[in-house]
Amino acid sequence: MRKTLVYFIKIPSTARFPDRDRAFARHWSVNSLRRKASLCAVPLVTYKEPLRRTRVATQPTPQARPMPRAVGIPGVKHVVAVASGKGGVGKSTTSCNLALGFAALGLKVGMLDADVYGPSQPRLFGLHGKPRTIGARMIEPKERFGVKVMSIGFLVDEDTAMIWRGAMVIQAVTQLLREVAWGDLDVMVVDMPPGTGDVQLTMAQQVPLAGAVIVSTPQDIALIDARRAIGMFQKVNIPILGIVENMSGFCCPACNKVTSIFGQGGARAEAEKIGAPFLGEIPLHMTIRATSDEGRPVVATAPESHHAQSYITIATQVWSAIETGGALKPAPRIVFE
Ligand code: ADP
Repeated sequence: MRKTLVYFIKIPSTARFPDRDRAFARHWSVNSLRRKASLCAVPLVTYKEPLRRTRVATQPTPQARPMPRAVGIPGVKHVVAVASGKGGVGKSTTSCNLALGFAALGLKVGMLDADVYGPSQPRLFGLHGKPRTIGARMIEPKERFGVKVMSIGFLVDEDTAMIWRGAMVIQAVTQLLREVAWGDLDVMVVDMPPGTGDVQLTMAQQVPLAGAVIVSTPQDIALIDARRAIGMFQKVNIPILGIVENMSGFCCPACNKVTSIFGQGGARAEAEKIGAPFLGEIPLHMTIRATSDEGRPVVATAPESHHAQSYITIATQVWSAIETGGALKPAPRIVFE
């Protein structure tokens, strides 16, 4: 197979080659690359940058690119991101029940499934089918249990792998945010993908987030990544509304003995360490798993149950933090230079 090497030539600085000798410098660079290419025995394709556009080292470093300005979503009062460091810790389940918890408080709620690589909200809400379009550009969100839901999962098959690069993901999330007829909402819950990638940064920079709720299981390996997620939000000045410990303790249905399979108290300790509110513990329980898989989330279908009440308590705390602006903002840092 024929291979081609593409070299991008950077003209050496004027320190080594004064301005008047730049033509020589360029000649020197191309020749040295030719030599490298001949060693590799592959044809050389060079990119020739016009001399006048070459930035030389003596010029001042260009200003850092300004951050994109966060622009609100028309009609949406508050946007809350639900994030985790790792996948599989119950972030989507918590997002879904948190949104339903807000609805139980009488709020107008939307759920944006931004977990484009693993959209779970259609299944959690028991929704399927393509959403309707309104006019040329807008999409109508689907609605169940009093929550408006939009997910890439409505547009692709459940078994289809999303093989998208960063730019495509950002485009998709931006469309889900801005080209959906959300109407008037008190709060929009965003189910973020796990980790600290493109979507998180896009959301943090382009949407005025009221804050982030972090979901973690109690064991160290999950908490390490949760810490990273917290660090990312703090770096981009997004308040941490609190931490939820999910799968915290397992109550055996046969003997009622509670076993802390993943440990217990890790997320609470982490919250204390960073001074963020600890929002509560949700146990590892069959009912939560079963109702989630069946598209009958526990807050909507058994609102009086112990589990549902735990989620509603979390929603109450988050809402009060949003309303009072009592979320933990990263403390200002004094930098000595
Ligand atoms: P993530 O969004 O972090 O990848 P999910 O919310 O999809 O995680 O949850 C992963 C699996 O764990 C799902 O099958 C879900 O039903 C189950 N699950 C989540 N939280 C609990 C819980 N507290 N008790 C039992 N099962 C849970």
